[in-house]
Amino acid sequence: MFEELENAFTSSLEELTQAQTPADLDIWYKGSLGRKGKLNLMARRVGQLEPDKRPEFGRRVNQLKKELEKAHKDRQDQLKGIDLDSVLAADGLDVTLPGRRPVRGGLHPATMTLRQIYRIWGDMGFQIYRSRDVETDELNFELLNMPKHHPARDMWDTFHTTTPGVILRTHTSPGQIHAMREYFPEPIRVILPGMCYRYEQITARSEIQFSQVEGLAVGTKISMADLKGTLVNFTRRMFGLERKTRFRASYFPFTEPSAEMDVECILCSGTGCQVCKYTGWLEILGCGMVHPRVLKNGGYDPAKYSGFAFGLGPERIAMLKYSIDDIRYFWSNDLRFLKQF
Ligand SMILES: [Zn+2]
Repeated sequence: MFEELENAFTSSLEELTQAQTPADLDIWYKGSLGRKGKLNLMARRVGQLEPDKRPEFGRRVNQLKKELEKAHKDRQDQLKGIDLDSVLAADGLDVTLPGRRPVRGGLHPATMTLRQIYRIWGDMGFQIYRSRDVETDELNFELLNMPKHHPARDMWDTFHTTTPGVILRTHTSPGQIHAMREYFPEPIRVILPGMCYRYEQITARSEIQFSQVEGLAVGTKISMADLKGTLVNFTRRMFGLERKTRFRASYFPFTEPSAEMDVECILCSGTGCQVCKYTGWLEILGCGMVHPRVLKNGGYDPAKYSGFAFGLGPERIAMLKYSIDDIRYFWSNDLRFLKQF
């Protein structure tokens, strides 16, 4: 009996090594460990033994069953491994191949320039102030010292909406009024970035939509010298320490006096080229002392307060910095252009 039991165990173990598929394993399990399997059939015959041998026999049966269970589990794992190997071989998957690089987007050149502008003004204590793209005629023109039929309105070709008096802002300057009314009577140091819209012929030099960054400083004893010093500092950081600048008298309805600021041509360093039209200078921004009437409209008493303002075009600056010759590239979403940055 004991010998028969050992033989049954050994033959079961041998059969197990021949099982090749999960189905083979199931058949083997039934035949060896199932209710009517070899081991259980042996166990049932325990009555044929002398009573004193029975416990030992029972213990041995359980022991061998456990060993077979373990062998079965091992074989199962082994077959799974073989299975995976054959699947991998069949599919020809090469896990050593380097992965494909995910396509990563980049920042738009206008955004890059904007962020650089933010950083420079931020370092000088200017906060970003945002206001809406859709404005009223009153804020876009009237409160900025351009009453209806004022000839200066011709400087901005305007998009009107179907609602009378509601327009797309032609410049970021209405933000000045918003900021002043919000901050009064505190001193103000803000830049107002945003998109502006003008009904214009689209050419290499003008678009119907473009970014603008307005700047506004209001306080007591702010003079033209502060305006010049601040703007010169800005251009030095934007275009390089050695870059020369100059101011030219100009006219804007909302500043008095007004000026335009030029920076020495980046391409020819002032010797004259096509981009600067052989003048050696590039115009980069308009500026001036906030007009007393505008201060008053913002809530500040012009007898007590003064301020300066400026407006610059990030796309224009990006064009100068990266030698881009056509402003239409910015918003036409041509990847061949955008991928270069
Ligand atoms: Zn030049």
